[in-house]
Formats: sequence, structure tokens, C-alpha cells
Amino acid sequence: METPGSQSSLHRANLERVVRAVRLAGSLTQAEIARTTGLSAATVSNIVRELKDGGTVEVTPTSAGGRRARSVSLSGDAGIVIGVDFGHTHLRVAIGNLAHQVLAEESEPLDVDASAAQGFDRAEQLVSRLIAATGVDRAKIAGVGLGVPGPIDVESGTLGSTAILPGWGGTRPAEELRGRLGVPVHVDNDANLGALGELVWGSGRGVRDLAYIKVASGVGAGLVINGKIYRGPGGTAGEIGHITLDEAGPVCRCGNRGCLETFAAARYVLPLLQPGHGPDLTMEGVVRLARDGDPGCRRVIADVGRHIGSGVANLCNLLNPSRVVLGGDLAEAGELVLGPIRESVGRYAIPSAARQLSVLPGALGGRAEVLGALALALSEMGDSTLLDGSATGALPAATPAFT
Ligand SMILES: [Zn+2]
Repeated sequence: METPGSQSSLHRANLERVVRAVRLAGSLTQAEIARTTGLSAATVSNIVRELKDGGTVEVTPTSAGGRRARSVSLSGDAGIVIGVDFGHTHLRVAIGNLAHQVLAEESEPLDVDASAAQGFDRAEQLVSRLIAATGVDRAKIAGVGLGVPGPIDVESGTLGSTAILPGWGGTRPAEELRGRLGVPVHVDNDANLGALGELVWGSGRGVRDLAYIKVASGVGAGLVINGKIYRGPGGTAGEIGHITLDEAGPVCRCGNRGCLETFAAARYVLPLLQPGHGPDLTMEGVVRLARDGDPGCRRVIADVGRHIGSGVANLCNLLNPSRVVLGGDLAEAGELVLGPIRESVGRYAIPSAARQLSVLPGALGGRAEVLGALALALSEMGDSTLLDGSATGALPAATPAFT
């Protein structure tokens, strides 16, 4: 037993702080570790040496601001994390190591009418196939991050009703997958995971306050406040799509009228263009046509951008984020949509709330959610197994379905 406040428990706490900082960021220079943890440069230097000798971290030469530096990351073979992302029509799985390297990634189509049980079976099969293909040791799996397109009750882990995957509401996705894989599973909704993915791997790197806005069949946002996802008790924080823009506007699927979603989501926008472009037009198609100069598609995308910008302006006044990242197909429209978003933010947000804001397209495209699921698994795993010997030591034994 270590006495709290004793020399050895302080040392242990410092080790954990350094490992945690590196685990969340992927790699950090020693100076960055000192800034992140609040530890002195000398302490960081000693701890990194100790962790390196113990095989927990790897240190490689790099340069920071033109100066030589040492980049610290967790050892690639210290453990494995898995990301699983369910979307409207796809299932995507990625396998990564603790050094934030993606070892394998694959996506396959998912029938929207498939039952939840069938979906989780498919996920287990795809995970098993990728594990076999990469040859990683199942015993090294530290955890799984799971993304679903609907609100997750924070207390019970129950998926609320979702229009995206009908029939999945009321299930407990993390429990379902944990039962099949025999390892810890952490679940979140797709917008939150998109935010986490862009924060750790994409356009949100280096900021602590970010909103990830995804425009697809609906409009949702994942909010990162002071480096952490903000969920709210019911897991519904970030429902930016239901900000009222026009009290007399179209009736929204939520029952309200004139929500942002009714001016921006595919199901409301596509019918405006289908008379001229055919019933099979998709959002992807609208973006492609707009980039090729189609005036109607350009106009609609600019209008969508202006409306999203109104929502973002509200968000700025409430939360003052330093970055807004636009995800989904619409992000491919680049300046055609980002320009109008910025214009609306400039018009409607309090100047001081928007002064430090940058609005960027997502860097990860359709991979944002699955990479966010990897980041979730990385953020939720503990450090004790890393610091107390091999990562396999404290992990649950593989279940029969897993051998
Ligand atoms: Zn609504």
C-alpha cells in the first residue's frame, strides 16, 4: 500500500500524468508534455527516461519550431484499440495501436433494416477478420470505441430513438458488443466521435474548444469544451439542427417548425433540386455539380451555408469555440459552403465571440467517426496495465467467441 502524499505515490501520479498526456495526444515533445501536465522540464525528462527504459514509451528525434526536440509516444506494441462505427448504410472498423497508428481499416455496406442483433454480429465478424488479417494479439486489446447514429443515455448506455437506424432504439450497444468481443466497449454518438476524431487526428488538432458540425440526413454537432466532449445528462447536447430559424418555416421531424435542419439537411434540400436534376440526386451529387459550376446547386449550397452560419453564430455566442469543423459530404464543397458560413457568423455573432474562430472543412471525411471511436477507446483505457507490466496482465481473458 502506498500512503497518499508519500514520495512514491507522487512519483506514480506523475508517471500516470505523463502516460495519459501521451496516450491522448499520440505523440508530444518533452516541452509539450511539460506544458500539458504542469510538470517541470527536469521531472518530465526523468520520467520519460524511466518510461523508455521500461518499454512503455518510444522516443524519436524530431524538430519543433526549427529546434531539435524529442518526440514521445506510447510503444506501438503496448496495446491495441479498436474503433467501430455504425452509419445509415455502412459499418466501418479500424484497428490502431497506442502510438495512434492505424493498422487496418475496412468498411462494408449495412442494410438499414437489419436488426440491431444482426448489426452487432456483423461488427464482431469484421473485427475478427481484421484482427486475423493484421496478426495482432487479441490479448492486447485494451478497449473498443463504438459509434452509433443516435443519442446515448449517459447513465444507462441506452440508445434513444434514432431515425437513422430504425429498430435499434432501446438497445444497449456497448453491452451488446462487449458480450460478443469480451473486452471493454465505450459508446458514443457519431457527431461526438466525429468531433473527437477531428480533434485528435484532423482539423481540430491543437485546439481545446471545438464544434464539429455534420450535415447529412440530419444536422448534428459534437461539442468539445476545454478538451472534453460535452454530452449533457441525456447525451443530446449539440442538437444544433433544431435551433429555430423561422417560426413559420417548414415542419421539422422533431415536430417544431423552421429548425435549421429544415434549411440544411439532405431530406429538405434535395427536393428543391430534384425537379431539374432527377429523383436520384444525392448530396454528394449536388456538391459535385456545384463544383462544376451548376448555378442552382451553387445557390442551394450557399443558402445552406448561410443557414448553418446562423446556427454557428448562436453557438459562438453561447460557447465561444476557437474552431468549427464542418464534416459530412457538404464539407467537400469547400469555400462554396464555408464562405457563406463565415459570412453569417460575421453578421450574427457578437464580434468578440467570433474573433478567434476559424471555420475549416474536416480533414478526415467519412473516416472521422471511426477514428473518433479509436480516440474514445484510447481516452477511456486506464494506464495501470501500461505501468504495471505487460498490457495483457489485467485484461479480461478472451471469451470462447474470441478465440
Ligand atoms: Zn427540428
